[in-house]
Amino acid sequence: MTRAFNFCAGPAALPEAVLQQAQADLVDWQGRGCSVMEMSHRGKDFVRIAEEAEQDLRDLLGVPDNYKVLFLQGGATLQFAQVPLNLLRGNASADYVCTGVWSEKAIAEARKLGGVNVVASDEANNFRAVPSLSAWTPDRDAAYLHYTPNETIHGVEFDFIPDTAALYGRDVPLVADYSSSILSEPLDVSKFGLIYAGAQKNIGPAGIVVVIVREDLLGQVPAGTPTMLDYAVAAKNGSMYNTPPTFSWYLAGLVFKWLKQQGGLAAMAEVNARKAARLYAAIDGSDFYGNPVALPNRSRMNVPFTLADAGLEKTFLAEADARGLINLAGHRSVGGMRASLYNAVPEAAVEALTAFMADFEQRHG
Ligand SMILES: *Cc1c(COP(=O)(O)O)cnc(C)c1O
Repeated sequence: MTRAFNFCAGPAALPEAVLQQAQADLVDWQGRGCSVMEMSHRGKDFVRIAEEAEQDLRDLLGVPDNYKVLFLQGGATLQFAQVPLNLLRGNASADYVCTGVWSEKAIAEARKLGGVNVVASDEANNFRAVPSLSAWTPDRDAAYLHYTPNETIHGVEFDFIPDTAALYGRDVPLVADYSSSILSEPLDVSKFGLIYAGAQKNIGPAGIVVVIVREDLLGQVPAGTPTMLDYAVAAKNGSMYNTPPTFSWYLAGLVFKWLKQQGGLAAMAEVNARKAARLYAAIDGSDFYGNPVALPNRSRMNVPFTLADAGLEKTFLAEADARGLINLAGHRSVGGMRASLYNAVPEAAVEALTAFMADFEQRHG
């Protein structure tokens, strides 16, 4: 069996070492005679797995003690609703930056629950850049500021963390959908009120979403909020108010241990920078390939690219697939190609892809 080089945007590649560990554990976890999927989430074995995963994640990100780490369900998409439910805290509206499809979805959902002020949007520019700060229009009374540090579909990444104290002149919680770039580099969690990230890009398998939230923001949901949507209930119950997705949690824990073995997030950031630089150099080095994103906002994690002759796209994807370079099709909403370069995608994958791109151009260019 050979593993392909997998550029899927999500559910995405997992480290091979993690899959092998899971395979070894699958039928009989550490001599207990059953798998992780078959043990009580309240038993001491799973509680240890869960606590270790949380601690390893805290270690990797340096999460301060006044933040809760929650392992929830419903993906990042449920967070689009759960964030306003919990963080509006009686305020009329919240501020949102719109830099792509995922921002738009977060905004649409927040509008069902309260007011939304779009602080800045790059829609008129087809989502090719982060709008310049000088053009932002913050609402002084906003409950929080929400943004998407990395837009997975358009390949647009913030090259700065918004400073809400400077923007608002007071402590307005910063909220970030980090689904597609969490753990790709070190992060100063103390700058945020809340961070959320669906697991299936850079954390583990689908079925779990990580929420990191400052404690003082909890416990102010409106009357009638479903129990499962109240962060305070999840926090009080160690994310086990109901049965959590135990296998996803366990596998995420293995990924956290793997990241520590790689040298942590500073080491990952170096590798990720090299991977992205190599691929963008291949795109920029020829008129045959193109990427429309403004240079400072080019995503390190998701690299969309087009062929000058769009008629060759199907051939490109088929030939790539035949060489074990899989899942390179762009999102259905934008077309073209997209290579996702998450932590688990090795440098060898990018080397193989850029070699294939040069070869393809030579034969078809
Ligand atoms: C994938 C993705 C989502 C959606 O995640 P689900 O887990 O499918 O709900 C939201 N935001 C971003 C930035 C994403 O990349």
